Amino acid sequence: MTDCLFCRIVAGEIPSTRVHETDDVLAFRDINPKAPVHVLVIPKAHHDDVAAMAAADPGLAGAVLAVAGAVAAAEGLAESGFRVLFNTGPDSGMEVAHAHAHVLGGRPLGAMVGR
Ligand code: 5GP
Ligand code: ZN
Repeated sequence: MTDCLFCRIVAGEIPSTRVHETDDVLAFRDINPKAPVHVLVIPKAHHDDVAAMAAADPGLAGAVLAVAGAVAAAEGLAESGFRVLFNTGPDSGMEVAHAHAHVLGGRPLGAMVGR
């Protein structure tokens, strides 16, 4: 058994609210939403972060972005807009070392980077 939280969510060992799924990509609601819409989009295969994923499998990185766009549209954000965010490494505050896109929207999201 892996100790990676998101691999365990992919495996169904930890419950999540799934909103979109393909053979290679899973989207589920963030447990601690920072905006009215806050969905995490992850590759089902483990990669430590977005840079590692893009280097190892550019097609998979594209598939993650395609699902991020589909989720935003399905959540009604196509007109109002949204933010797709990949935290990477310590300065970003990344907490889970499995590549993931945050899809955020549903209200004005404010400054791109806090102080
Ligand atoms: P990071 O800070 O690594 O970019 O983002 C990790 C995200 O995972 C956080 O927004 C956090 O709320 C979310 N998260 C942590 N544990 C769980 C969980 O067990 N289930 C879900 N759905 N989200 C989680
Ligand atoms: Zn993982």
